[in-house]
Amino acid sequence: SSSSVSTPKEEVNIWCIFTKAAGNASMKYKLLTFTHSLVENANSVMISLHVIVDTSSQRIAQEILQSVKDTLKKDIKISFYDVNQIAKDLKSLVAAMQPHFSSQPGSYYSDSLFFLSLGLHRIAPVSMSRAAMFDIDTKVLTDVGKLFELFESFGNDTLFALAPELSPVYRHVLYLYRSKNPSSKIGDPIATGGFPGLNSGVILFALDRLRNSPMYPHLVHAFNVTSLTKKYSFKGHLGDQDFYTLLGFEHPELVSVIPCNWNRQLCTWWSDHGYRDVMPQYAQCEGKVHVWHGNCNTPIPVT
Ligand code: UDP
Ligand code: MN
Repeated sequence: SSSSVSTPKEEVNIWCIFTKAAGNASMKYKLLTFTHSLVENANSVMISLHVIVDTSSQRIAQEILQSVKDTLKKDIKISFYDVNQIAKDLKSLVAAMQPHFSSQPGSYYSDSLFFLSLGLHRIAPVSMSRAAMFDIDTKVLTDVGKLFELFESFGNDTLFALAPELSPVYRHVLYLYRSKNPSSKIGDPIATGGFPGLNSGVILFALDRLRNSPMYPHLVHAFNVTSLTKKYSFKGHLGDQDFYTLLGFEHPELVSVIPCNWNRQLCTWWSDHGYRDVMPQYAQCEGKVHVWHGNCNTPIPVT
């Protein structure tokens, strides 16, 4: 700035989950890549990072984050939250989701982490009104302040915003519903005017609205989750994003869709498993990549 008076930068709250990292070099490398790229490019905002951890992963994260601060000579705020405490606090929410959206519905605590985002407004300090959550298998190439500008385009009722799923996974999962309802758009690619579902690698939260919503507790109640999955003959395995996908289709006013560039998924698994012909329609995403998402352990391109 040419001005001698510097105004303090706006603080943005970024959440991520970092558990079971002990002895896992790949998890450590992912957290380093995510946090280094996030902090390096965040020029317009001050980052406050909120990391959900287990005890041994917290020590690992502390070391990685210290090295990021030292290397970039930038300060960030860091807070840690205990994954086991959060899993306890959100026990009934997880119990409502898990039977329908988990690959191993029996393994109760171990995969509750995949549903925690749905209760983030109950975990975050009440003074926090907006937040973003990132998977750690991501790399951020744009100032994250630009992502937070998308809050300004939220509708009056928007609670969450996510980017589209860029694979035909919901075409597959919704096979039965789609064959009985051939005119439905759910599971179709955006390229043909469809709704391919949502990917939870990057999520924006209107936390204050979630806390004040009279409707949301009912939407995540076991009774409603079960009836929603029955309506769509839906049995998923991708955790929170299965619920965001159904919610986004059933109640589009509650979930807005952000540009695919903010969550450019790289997984090509479905291309090799029966969907090679349609994969390009789903994966299509024009324009500058803001966030790479190396989902299903796909390496992120070196730039
Ligand atoms: N995660 C974690 N520990 C694990 C598995 C997952 O902390 O053992 C967190 C991590 O933030 C990760 C997110 O959960 O990015 C979602 O998992 P992943 O990215 O592996 O799923 P994918 O995007 O490949 O579906
Ligand atoms: Mn991921």
